[in-house]
Amino acid sequence: MTKYQKRRKHHGRKLTVIGIAILSVALLCVMGIFIYEFYLKSQIPEVLRNSDSNEKYSSVLESNDNYIIAAHFPSLDNETIGSSISDTISGYITDFKTTYQDYTADTKADRMILSVDFDIYRVDGQYESIVINKAISNDVDKLNYQTVMTLTYDVNSGIITDLSDLFKDGYLKRIAALLRHELKSNDSYEHVISNVSFYRNTLADEANFKLFALDNDQLVIFYDSAKVIENSDSTIAIKLDLNSLAYYLFNPIKADTSVIEPSTTDNTYLRYIDPDKPMVALTFDDGPYTLTTGKIIDVLARYHSAATFFMVGNRIATYSDTVIEVLKRGNEIGNHSYTHKYNLSKLSFEDLKTELDNVQTTLNKYVTDYKITLLRPTYGAISESLKENCDYILINWSVDPKDWKWRNSEIIYDNVINKVHNGDIVLMHDIYMSTAEAVENIVPKLIDMGYQLVTVSELLEYNDIKPLNGQLYYSVSKN
Ligand code: ZN
Repeated sequence: MTKYQKRRKHHGRKLTVIGIAILSVALLCVMGIFIYEFYLKSQIPEVLRNSDSNEKYSSVLESNDNYIIAAHFPSLDNETIGSSISDTISGYITDFKTTYQDYTADTKADRMILSVDFDIYRVDGQYESIVINKAISNDVDKLNYQTVMTLTYDVNSGIITDLSDLFKDGYLKRIAALLRHELKSNDSYEHVISNVSFYRNTLADEANFKLFALDNDQLVIFYDSAKVIENSDSTIAIKLDLNSLAYYLFNPIKADTSVIEPSTTDNTYLRYIDPDKPMVALTFDDGPYTLTTGKIIDVLARYHSAATFFMVGNRIATYSDTVIEVLKRGNEIGNHSYTHKYNLSKLSFEDLKTELDNVQTTLNKYVTDYKITLLRPTYGAISESLKENCDYILINWSVDPKDWKWRNSEIIYDNVINKVHNGDIVLMHDIYMSTAEAVENIVPKLIDMGYQLVTVSELLEYNDIKPLNGQLYYSVSKN
């Protein structure tokens, strides 16, 4: 071993010792920080900070024998915005003091707490959104933060932005439809309150979307969960992809603005329905038939509407492309038996089952996963045995323009328009050109009259009807 090597070895050992020393000190520091944090949490709820963001802030911390106030304000470059936020938070503090001026805490642990905190969301270089959350409780573990104020502004101009500054007409319905979809398809929101209340509380109303933030390529809507979920009382943040709103954006933000208006021809389209506005369900029997069914679904799509098609099973294979298109555009398919048997009620249990099951099986060859729930018995013939033996909700009609008899589009049009009321189910047949032609005028006229054109299942759902198999409906009358 040369002298040089010895020195290297010695030097190496020295380095190891120093390394261990540094690591130990670092470890102690980290432990110290943890212990200190723990100490802070257990001893000083006065500085309660809910947000884990690293934003700069200042605080109002105040406490006495009866209350604790911990309010954190974002430190912003924009003074106007900053003072608007601090004014609002000061208001919360004043309100809190007024509300609890007579409150007496028996012990220190029982003091009433007001905690106000904030988050900041950003679209880099374009927008900043300040979100203020507030919680009041005398139990530090039960501070339930609610989003109480949001403020979005253009970072370049400093101007405060509302949704109506960002989006053009039609955006409210689109946001409502996306929000409903998001809520209903998320497992954590499975306990949604009754359908009608859910839809009423998510109407395309500006007041419903007042609390929002822009976060990169997302629009975040802060929503009072009690409005949509049973036994819930927090604020939920629903994230909507700005790309799905791109058509309505005045400025691109982070979305692709070359997108065209969403339409029912796109299978990701979400229709918006108001449960309190009149609705009618158009139904079409005996199809499909590409020439006429195709024409009808084109008209429906053009007017963002949908209908129910009670199909004869043995026609599905021949017109399978049309069948796929019917569903893709948000329409519904019902069962109208496999061979259009004269009287389903007279069939044996086994024959009835074959007649109905074959429709489902055939359909699933072209559209997997689609489950038919509605049955229109041939000729509307109902019997107790049919009700008992079929695994379907039975759907007849309340308006019959007798299109099969007249084969005249004007008469069919008059027979529908002069008879129709809210909640009606209209019977037509999508195998006649005269019917398809009548539909071209019926659809825009009904919309003009204020009706929403929905599928039968939607008509039931938006009226809070949860039908059982074997139940029969002619219409849905409103109270
Ligand atoms: Zn029929």
